[in-house]
Amino acid sequence: MSEMKQEMSKARLASLERAAQLDKSAQETNAGVANAKSYDEAEYKKTVADRKKIIMEHFGASESDWNNHIWQMQNRIDNVEKLNAIFKLNQDRYDEIAEAGENFRWSTTPYYLSLMDVNNRADEIGLLAIPTRHEMSAASNIDTTLDPMSEEFTNPAGSITRRYPDRLIINVTSTCAMLCRHCQRRRNFGSEDHHTSAADIEASIEYVRNTPYIRDVLVTGGDPFVLSDDKLEYIISSLRSIPHVEYIRIGTRTSATMPQRVTEDFVNMLKKYHPIYVNFHFNHPKELTEDAVEACNRLANAGVPLGNQMVLLKGINNNKHVVMSLNRKMLMARVRPYYIFHPKSVAGTLHFCCDIEDGLQIMDHLTGNTSGMAKPYYIYNASGGLGKVPLLRSNFKKIAEGKYEITTWEGNVVDFQYP
Ligand code: SF4
Repeated sequence: MSEMKQEMSKARLASLERAAQLDKSAQETNAGVANAKSYDEAEYKKTVADRKKIIMEHFGASESDWNNHIWQMQNRIDNVEKLNAIFKLNQDRYDEIAEAGENFRWSTTPYYLSLMDVNNRADEIGLLAIPTRHEMSAASNIDTTLDPMSEEFTNPAGSITRRYPDRLIINVTSTCAMLCRHCQRRRNFGSEDHHTSAADIEASIEYVRNTPYIRDVLVTGGDPFVLSDDKLEYIISSLRSIPHVEYIRIGTRTSATMPQRVTEDFVNMLKKYHPIYVNFHFNHPKELTEDAVEACNRLANAGVPLGNQMVLLKGINNNKHVVMSLNRKMLMARVRPYYIFHPKSVAGTLHFCCDIEDGLQIMDHLTGNTSGMAKPYYIYNASGGLGKVPLLRSNFKKIAEGKYEITTWEGNVVDFQYP
């Protein structure tokens, strides 16, 4: 054998050995994903279909009612009596929801209710939607707040939040299809649904019009997708008429909580105002149902780039295999994992808080074990409205157990503590 041929076969041998090593890593990753799933996909699908039937019978609803987002909004379940009338609760669970519900407003769509086992306290979907006693126990060693990002102090006009030189947020409503238990804006839930006033919307648009540095506007809330097509179109078309606004982003969680919202008419309206980007908020692989994937596909087919902003939540997704599974499913639905937010110290949500190390381990696991497409930024939102900080092993310092110093994009050093 010539020297060159011998070199080539050595290279092939080394390549095969390396490929075998990679096969082993892939097998371990896949086994982790399979083990982390506390559910069997096919069985879950069947259980959800059975629950849907029970809920529809309770309401006397037809399939077309179920697929109508207005029907979903009108028939939200928002107190323990309504819930118990659909799915019989055991006494302790009934008392817990009644007690927590007296102190904190909650609400879920019939669709999202079909995804959860209401009597199972560990059910990830239930934890995201139904209040528990944990909401009432405040940790004693940590400062909680209802406004962790000081949004009230970064509002130069109307319903704007401005934390950066070239972009800002317009909060167009305080209403959502579901009132998520981990919500950082729960201070805005109020006692009933409400949208931002027309005057504040006008003042926000005017501010953007008069501020030539703003090239990127994020329309959020609440959940902008709960607005009527006409109302949302008015806001988007007004922004699109401003020459220096290069693109518009919209944040919504309806893809997970009420995918029926994404109708053909709705996407046809949105696509008139490209470039429009939509960011979702999926937190768990169980939320990627066939209905949710269909909603994603409708938007993607209309040319809307899709991203996802997950919140890291103890007991739900602070597990590298769960996040791997979620990110794989999202990419199949053409949704790019964009951010993982570290949870904030919002009063009533501390039971979801976890250590930064949990998030870093997830990021370590995603690196290499899956493509860069499935690797979002892991973000800490600095207090005082100082903006997002990507959490990399290099840009924060542990100063004591559970306490860190974090450096923001402008070089400000802020303290972070978890309960
Ligand atoms: S959809 Fe978003 S804004 Fe609305 S309650 Fe859930 S997390 Fe909060």
